[in-house]
Parts: sequence; structure tokens; C-alpha cells
Amino acid sequence: MTYDVAIIGAGLVGLATAHRLQTLRPDWKVCLLEKEQSIALHQSSHNSGVIHSGIYYQPGSLRAKNCLSGYALLLEFCSQHQVPFEICGKLIVATEADEIPALEKIYLRGKENGLYGLSMLDREAALEIEPNIACERAIQVPQAGIIDFRNVALTLSELVEEAGGVMLLGEEVKQIQSLATEVIIGTSGNELRSRYAVSCAGLYADKVARLTVPDLPCRILPFRGEYYDLIPERRDLVNHLIYPVPNPNFPFLGVHFTRRLHGGVEAGPNAVLAFRREGYKFADFDMVELTTTLAYRGFRKIASKYWRTGLQEMRRSLSKKKFVEALQKLVPAIVEQDVVPGRSGVRAMACDIEGNLLDDFLILEEQRIIHMVNAPSPAATACLAIGRELATKILKKEL
Ligand SMILES: Cc1cc2nc3c(=O)[nH]c(=O)nc-3n(C[C@H](O)[C@H](O)[C@H](O)COP(=O)(O)OP(=O)(O)OC[C@H]3O[C@@H](n4cnc5c(N)ncnc54)[C@H](O)[C@@H]3O)c2cc1C
Repeated sequence: MTYDVAIIGAGLVGLATAHRLQTLRPDWKVCLLEKEQSIALHQSSHNSGVIHSGIYYQPGSLRAKNCLSGYALLLEFCSQHQVPFEICGKLIVATEADEIPALEKIYLRGKENGLYGLSMLDREAALEIEPNIACERAIQVPQAGIIDFRNVALTLSELVEEAGGVMLLGEEVKQIQSLATEVIIGTSGNELRSRYAVSCAGLYADKVARLTVPDLPCRILPFRGEYYDLIPERRDLVNHLIYPVPNPNFPFLGVHFTRRLHGGVEAGPNAVLAFRREGYKFADFDMVELTTTLAYRGFRKIASKYWRTGLQEMRRSLSKKKFVEALQKLVPAIVEQDVVPGRSGVRAMACDIEGNLLDDFLILEEQRIIHMVNAPSPAATACLAIGRELATKILKKEL
């Protein structure tokens, strides 16, 4: 088979890219190659389900730009296609006075990123919204919302198929040959030709990119995020979304409370190195993947910088007591009996050889292939904007 564009990976980013390409070029033959037997089985359905406002990201970065434009596109898409969501707002809470300067920085960053309606609340005002928090001061972010991103992926996949897109499931891409006029893609069982290719392979983004960019300057490190569920009788401890002030030296937002769209409240996720890229449980282990991670200079550098935080996270993963202690910082009334173990997800984080986790989305463009190498949070919120960007880059190649 010959296609105009082959997209590798049917998560939110790949699906959104296919959808956008079909909208702009309905005459093109588009296929999606997905290694699993179903779409969106990894990060796109194992996340917190939060529609991010864009408050945290460096102004002008791809994350800031795509989160803000993706937010608007996502809400419009969901309204148009009856995908349920709720804009419930969130609080980012300084629980101690020494966190206030960092909270103020986030507030200013949000303003710089053009967020409307942000308010800096004193303790009393914050307690009116979330009566059970420990709080010195808090930012109220009215735009934040909740959604089940799997529904977004399913809707996108239906639209792609209705528009004639071909979904090739169970096809793991193992080889890519980029020629002057086409790309030849070898999968576990087949070979296909396409004029262009876009790779959106999430946790394996670096592995796929290295098929055509052998000297790729980074590797994906998998960080598992584990959640606990609040038991039904204690769900009223949390009204909306409650986040801590993130550690500025760590690229994760810290364990938080998230109300789920279809009921229930989750607490988490932590951030623990996974011993396998798709390792959803502590004991999931892949010798080759783990030794490749441990042997990577970037990982060793990061481990030497953050070993203390890493150990703390590991302890929190193994000990419910430690996990609950972190939650008690935000909601002191929570006790171990109030939570039960819940889901988990694994984040794909690109790390360079110097041990820096990349702070932005990373897109690598070649003559006939585009690789989405780093698409961490908020890429679910931003997927429609990223899809637009990747589709535009492909169409420019036609000029
Ligand atoms: C715990 C956690 C919480 C998060 N919370 C949020 C949140 O609240 N809000 C938010 O906006 N973002 C959140 N994110 C981030 C968001 O989920 C991801 O950034 C986003 O889903 C990335 O989508 P993707 O399509 O790039 O990757 P994925 O969804 O991982 O899709 C990649 C696809 O590529 C396929 N694939 C891989 N290799 C190959 C190959 N060789 N051949 C064929 N197919 C292949 C995989 O099977 C997979 O289906 C969270 C992520 C995690 C893990």
C-alpha cells in the first residue's frame, strides 16, 4: 500500500495530527500505525484527566503556546462532538509561608501567558472554596477542568476512520527508510510506503526517532505516576482540584487531588523511575530497557543530581504511609484508611546527555519525516494544537 502520510502511534497526538491532515487535505490517503490492538492504550488514557490552563509553562515555549491554543481547540472540539468535560477550576496552594514567593512567580507567569480571571487568595478566601486544605495563600485558576481523555481519543479515531483514514493496529514500526521521494516503513508483519511520515510514539518516541536520526540528542526516561482513590465516604474532603506549589527543580507538579469526571477523587501521581517503559506496576521489569536506561549518561547525571528526591519518591511508592504524609500537607485530615490504591500511568520524559529533562515539547523535522520526540504533560490538553502544528509542517513540505 502507498499512502500520502503514515502516522506512527495512535495516541492523542498521532490521532489529532491525522484528523488535522484530513481536514486540510481530504484527498490524501492517511494511515495510522499502532503497535497495540487498540488505540490510546498508554499515556493518552493513563493520565490525570486534567484540562490544563497553561499557567506553569515558560512564556513563549511550545508548551505554553500549544497549551493555551490547544485548550481553546479542545473545548470547542468537545462541545462540537458531545465529549463530556467540566471546567471546575483549581487551587494551587502554598501550605507554608516560605512557598509564597514561588506561588507568586506562578501567578505572574500565568498572567504573562495571558490567563484571565486568576486570583491570589488569602487563607480565608481559599478555605471558602476548599474548606479542608492547609493554606497560607492560594491561586485560583478558573480555567482548569476535568475530562476523560480516552473519550477524546475515541472520538478522534472515529472521525479519522469516517474520513477514510486507515487504522493499522498491531503493527509495531521497526524500520524506517527515508528516500528522496518516499518513506518505506517496516512493521512487525508488513512493509508500506508513504510520501511522508509523522512519528508520535510516546514512550518509544526516541526509539522510533533513532531509526532515522541515529545521533538523537536525548532518550526517553519512563516515570511511573501512581494514584490512590479516596474512599466514597471521604470524597467530600475535596471539592475541585487541589495542587501544591511544585518543586521548581523537579519537572512534575507534585501529588495533588483531582476530582474525576465520572465521580470519585484521585490523589497522586507520584513520579518513580519505571523499570520498563510501559511498566504500570512496581514489579514490571524489562532487563534490556532497564539496563539501557541505567547505562545512559544522561540518566546517571540526573540520578546524581536528584537521588534524594528519587529515593523519596521510591519510598512513597512502596509505603502508603509516606504517600499519605505527602497528601496530609495539602489536606491534613486525610488518614491512611481514607485512600485505597488506584491506577497508574507512565510519563515519557526526554532527557539529554547532560541529565537535563527537556522542559519543552521537542519536534525534529527531516526531509520526509517529522518526529514528535518529547510530548509530556500538557500534551493531552494541547493535542489538537500539536496536531495542527505537525500537519502544517508536513503540508509546507509540499510547497
Ligand atoms: C500519569 C500521567 C498524568 C498525566 N496527566 C495529564 C493531564 O492531566 N493533562 C494533560 O494534558 N496531560 C497529562 N499527561 C500527559 C499526556 O497524557 C501525554 O502528554 C499525552 O497523552 C501524550 O500523547 P501521545 O500521543 O504523544 O503518547 P501516547 O498516548 O503514549 O501514544 C503513543 C502511541 O504510540 C504507540 N507506539 C509506540 N511505539 C510504537 C511503534 N514502534 N510502532 C507503532 N506504534 C507505537 C503506543 O502504543 C501508543 O499508542 C499525563 C501523563 C501521565 C503519564
